[in-house]
Amino acid sequence: MAMLSSRFMWKRILFQRGMAVAAFFLACSISFVPRTAAQAPPPLAAAPKALQTPARPKLVVLLVVDQMRGDYVDKFLGQWTGGLKRLVEEGAWFRDAAYPYAATETCVGHSTISTGAFPSTHGMVANAWWDRKEQKMVTCTSDPDPSVKNIGYAGATPKGADTAWRMAVPSFAEELKFQTSGVTRIVTFSLKARAAITMAGHKADAATWFDGGAWVTSSPYGTMPFIEEQAKSHPAKADFGKTWSFSLPESAYWYGEKALGAVPPDGWDLTFPHPLRGKTGVGELDSAFYEQWASSPYADTALTELAEKAVDALKLGNSNGTDFLAVSYSSVDYVGHEFGPRSREIQDILVRLDKDLGNLFAHLDKKVGRGNYVVALSADHGVVPIPEDMQKTGADAGVLHLPEVQERIEKALESFNYAKPAVARIAGSDVYFATGVYEKLAADSNAMNAVLDAIRTVPGVAAVYRAEDLRNRPATPPSSTQSSAHRAFAYSYFPGRSGDLFILPKPYWLLDGTPLGKPRSYGTGHGVPYNYDQHVPVLLMGFGIQPGQYFQSITPADIAPTFAALCGITLASRDGHVLAEALKKPAAPRAPAQPARLVPR
Ligand SMILES: [Zn+2]
Repeated sequence: MAMLSSRFMWKRILFQRGMAVAAFFLACSISFVPRTAAQAPPPLAAAPKALQTPARPKLVVLLVVDQMRGDYVDKFLGQWTGGLKRLVEEGAWFRDAAYPYAATETCVGHSTISTGAFPSTHGMVANAWWDRKEQKMVTCTSDPDPSVKNIGYAGATPKGADTAWRMAVPSFAEELKFQTSGVTRIVTFSLKARAAITMAGHKADAATWFDGGAWVTSSPYGTMPFIEEQAKSHPAKADFGKTWSFSLPESAYWYGEKALGAVPPDGWDLTFPHPLRGKTGVGELDSAFYEQWASSPYADTALTELAEKAVDALKLGNSNGTDFLAVSYSSVDYVGHEFGPRSREIQDILVRLDKDLGNLFAHLDKKVGRGNYVVALSADHGVVPIPEDMQKTGADAGVLHLPEVQERIEKALESFNYAKPAVARIAGSDVYFATGVYEKLAADSNAMNAVLDAIRTVPGVAAVYRAEDLRNRPATPPSSTQSSAHRAFAYSYFPGRSGDLFILPKPYWLLDGTPLGKPRSYGTGHGVPYNYDQHVPVLLMGFGIQPGQYFQSITPADIAPTFAALCGITLASRDGHVLAEALKKPAAPRAPAQPARLVPR
């Protein structure tokens, strides 16, 4: 209470000081107007009305739908009746939004949306990368600080320690809290640590994700009683025994009954309905049940309920400042990896998400007030069709086997003097050599050419880029001598973390790390610089937003600068820009009357 009243006191003093300063400048400007004896002073009646501090949203809401392709909105809008439809009808729909960089993965996309910067700036270059110093793979949120610990709700005891310490710049939410007297509350939810953490930033009031059947956070974020209460009263296991069935008449589904090349979770087959009953279907809370739950609409509903509880428990949007609430819906990503983008499952889970978002917006209307909050919805990346499905069209599509790349590099170096293995790891597009090997190759053009040629012989490889070609940040506007793929790899490049060589697959070729001779454990994926992975929705709605459809090409890095402009704060390192075309323009104040020119020339 004492803190509250002193904060108000401080605000009042600032306000009075602000008025005094304004009066001083007003007095100076009047006395500095040069005048000749012959001229009358300008009439006082023409003085402009004093400008007021612009209004700010009470709550900023960020929604990310993991793996939502931009074209899902175009395709399925007619089947939606809830929140997704409302975003399009009442909001600003950017129809040509795409990531400009190559590493179209979850951690990278969420960090880009949350900071307004590209991976070459924020440093989150992948979900996981090879740590040259530690000589092991590290995830983007793994924190080696021994004082950091993950904390489970409802008695769970999670392993590990996850924070945003590897994210090189602050999030929009952190800047908002820091730059506006600290009243901002930051609350984020996702099934994934790499989404909940990156949307929040380095510290937050609550950042919550799902691990091993329980809701989890970590020590820099702390715990919240309302999440504990929800974790106990509505645990995921309460959905055991439910069945995911069609929400629309069967004739409304676009695609075949069984998605070609799909790999469903254990315990499910390729056709609806999908029971949430674990691996055997008879009944245990096994890991298959949690995989099924995460791949079902029930997980999206659980996240929506948590977000609504946060609004109620913390009275988000009802403080003196601007609060921040973010939800990343992960299930579309799991479903997309399993069943592919051309599946009844994707279509249905979006219908269900549309309903959840309708409920969320209705709740916000009631508790915060329609027009008092601003929402942005986007995705962290898209997805490529399942290669076997794409091949049906006659297109050149396939699987680029990364272990084969590694084998061919080792073989190419046999006739040169290199210790085996020369390759430490291939992670997605990035090839990491063992310590010292790449430096040696860079000075040995015969061996380097042998390696590059060997990679190019692997089926599905379109091109190979070298780290030294990417190190200088791409010029803006883009140089015409760079291919768009080259630029995309440069926007993804962060020294020390990115690989030594970068593999660009041909379009519709899936990068796959499954050991040779083993079956793929998933249907399809993402992570390359083609539009099917880069093109995502960007929808804005509510406070300050001018509804309409916008066709200029933008990136999801534009969301944070746009939020910053609405909230009147500054982001230090941003690669995005303000989406000014979708902002309502305040009525222009009347211009002051121009004094007559005093000294004619
Ligand atoms: Zn993702």
